[in-house]
Amino acid sequence: MKAMVLDAPRRKLKLAELPMPQPAAGQVLIKVHACGVCRTDLHVVDGDLADGKLPIIPGHEIVGVVAGKGAAVERFNVGDRVGVPWLGYTCGTCRYCASGQENLCGHARFTGYHLDGGYAEYTLADQRYCFAIPDEYDDVSAAPLLCAGLIGYRSLVMAGDAKRLGLYGFGAAAHIVAQVARYQGREIYAFTRQGDAEGQQFARRLGAAWAGASTTTPPEPLDAAIIFAPVGALVPQALCATRKGGIVVCAGIHMSDIPAFPYSLLWGERRIQSVANLTRRDGEEFLKLAPQVPVRTATETFDLTQANEALARLREGKITGAAVLVPDSARVPTSALSRRGAQQ
Ligand SMILES: [Zn+2]
Ligand SMILES: [Zn+2]
Repeated sequence: MKAMVLDAPRRKLKLAELPMPQPAAGQVLIKVHACGVCRTDLHVVDGDLADGKLPIIPGHEIVGVVAGKGAAVERFNVGDRVGVPWLGYTCGTCRYCASGQENLCGHARFTGYHLDGGYAEYTLADQRYCFAIPDEYDDVSAAPLLCAGLIGYRSLVMAGDAKRLGLYGFGAAAHIVAQVARYQGREIYAFTRQGDAEGQQFARRLGAAWAGASTTTPPEPLDAAIIFAPVGALVPQALCATRKGGIVVCAGIHMSDIPAFPYSLLWGERRIQSVANLTRRDGEEFLKLAPQVPVRTATETFDLTQANEALARLREGKITGAAVLVPDSARVPTSALSRRGAQQ
């Protein structure tokens, strides 16, 4: 099978021809139809995250079809469509696993980081961490739901009942969260890089009440802010924009250092909270909610072999919505492969 492989940090991914993976007990073999490109993949490629497996096939927003299964797989049959998220394994017995916080498990293993992921024609996954994909979504549209959607959803839950919600960094996750938040009757304040008129317009198209540069103050104080951009300097900026008793949620797995800031910004019972990936429960809740909203994902597709180009465009902030890789073997008619727009 073809796969895009990272041999060492800060290198380009290399196209490789690898033997077909064989499912062990409890695993499904998945023919990959689409795999989203997430900012975390950039952190994996850049070596920002410690202790990953190398070489590794990145990719943790996988949509495909079960093509084979190991012993004792009872949740899925050959031919079923499944999705694979970042959380690929947990121990099931530690205090976190036992209390519904499996995302904090010290033995957790993550797709495309510890476990080979979806930048390939085929991949393996532990059946217990796969999700059924709602019929309303085609493969490409569903891919961004599996990380941008799931982690965005967990971040939104952390924001509590905030009515005025700030979103810092209007990329793949924010464009999904904005739709869910609007459905829930919240007001969206979208913050982008300075001068990103296209990003601000995209946010307004998705129903944002206001959109502006992250350095500016919104017209009304926020009840909560979610920071998707991996930029520590946004934390004091978001605190500045948030009312007393409000919360600033940091949704990313990696962020540059947070600069020192006066205690007065945190004073007034403001809180800062990080979000560590997802639980299977988040996945089930979100994948049930998404078609009700209905969440529509804006995607830009790339051939599997163009993974480096997709990563470069994401790094430069040039992707509107989410980038999705499609293996040549899974190609759908070209008309469906052009840029899709999210509409409300
Ligand atoms: Zn555990
Ligand atoms: Zn991700």
